[in-house]
Parts: sequence; C-alpha cells; structure tokens
Amino acid sequence: MKLLEERIRKDGVVKEGNVLKVDSFLNHQLDISLYNEMGKEFKRLFADRKINKILTIEASGIGIACVAAQYFDVPVVFAKKSQSINIDGTVYSTMITSFTHKRDYQVIVSKKFIGPEDHVLIIDDFLANGCALKGLIELVEDAGASVEGIGIAVEKGFQEGGRIIRDMGMNLHSLAIVESMDASTGEIVFREQ
Ligand code: 5GP
Repeated sequence: MKLLEERIRKDGVVKEGNVLKVDSFLNHQLDISLYNEMGKEFKRLFADRKINKILTIEASGIGIACVAAQYFDVPVVFAKKSQSINIDGTVYSTMITSFTHKRDYQVIVSKKFIGPEDHVLIIDDFLANGCALKGLIELVEDAGASVEGIGIAVEKGFQEGGRIIRDMGMNLHSLAIVESMDASTGEIVFREQ
C-alpha cells in the first residue's frame, strides 16, 4: 500500500535492534485518515472471505482493528495481556514472547467471545518473528474457530515471521513489507507486492 509506505519513509524512524518506530502516526499518535485507508485496503484484500469477527491483541492492534471493523461490519475482540497465574476454564490462554519488550507474557480471550461458529480475521500492527501471530492463531484454533485471514500493517520481511506464518498455509497480507532498513542512514527499502 503506497500511502503507508510513503508515510513510513517520511515519518518512520529506524532504531538499532531492528526496531522501526512509527509512533507519530501508527501506534502512539494515530492518523485516523491513514487508518481509514488501511481499513478499506484490508476489506479489499479479504473481500472474498466470510468474516464475522476481528481478533487483535492489546494495545497497538486495537485501533487498527476497530477502524477496519467498520468496513467489515463485525465486532472486534482483543486478546488481553494477563498477569494472573490462575487461569480458569472461562478463557483461552497462550504465552507470547514480546519482540519489543523482550519478555514473555500470557494473553487471554474469554470463551464467551470466540467459538466454533466464528470466522476470524486477525489484525495486528507489526509482524516481526511471528510470535504474537502464532499465539493469536492458537487461541482461534483452541476455540474451534477458523482463521480466514491475517492482516498486518507493517511486516519486517527480513525477520522470519512472514515466512513461518505463510508456511503454515495462512492467508496473510501485509500492507507494507520492509525488505531492509538501516539504522545508521535511516534508509528503508520495501518489497514490491
Ligand atoms: P512478533 O511477535 O512478530 O515478533 O512481533 C510482533 C509484535 O511486536 C507487534 O505486535 C508489535 O507490537 C511489536 N513489534 C515488533 N517489531 C516492531 C517494530 O519494529 N516496531 C514496533 N513499533 N513494534 C514492533
């Protein structure tokens, strides 16, 4: 998606450690007109799929998922990060390793909000090593629901997540795929799609 690529080139900041900061428009301050265009693009990309629910993960995925949901006319469920070690039978849970915070945390979704009748589109802001997505896919599968597609705003194509998730046979679309980025020059190269 050219609009997103141009914005990343203009306002994205490449940090050491393979981190791309996009906090002025995507995940701290949010540009809602850009979000709207992203939502429309997700709708176009997944138009052939029967989707009745969008699943994301707190916090950065929620805004993108909510704006996109208006184009699908479906509810959004977000996986919550949980401190509790006493997980009861009312939730599905999985462990996720955070790429940016370098720690493990548990995420949960109530069994009330996802079940075998659901056809789920998973949406998140970034795809790096794929850990967050693997966790979300596991939650959907534990619920007996189906993953109809996965929509990502920014995939870092030089990390392994995209390959892992596509090798699982998932219908994954990323709006922008960063092929390479250089913290010393700030240069960002996108994959042609
Ligand atoms: P993964 O689980 O695929 O390794 O990482 C995905 C999660 O880590 C995303 O939900 C996102 O919040 C965060 N993340 C990974 N890489 C970056 C990055 O370069 N910049 C930002 N802002 N977040 C990232």
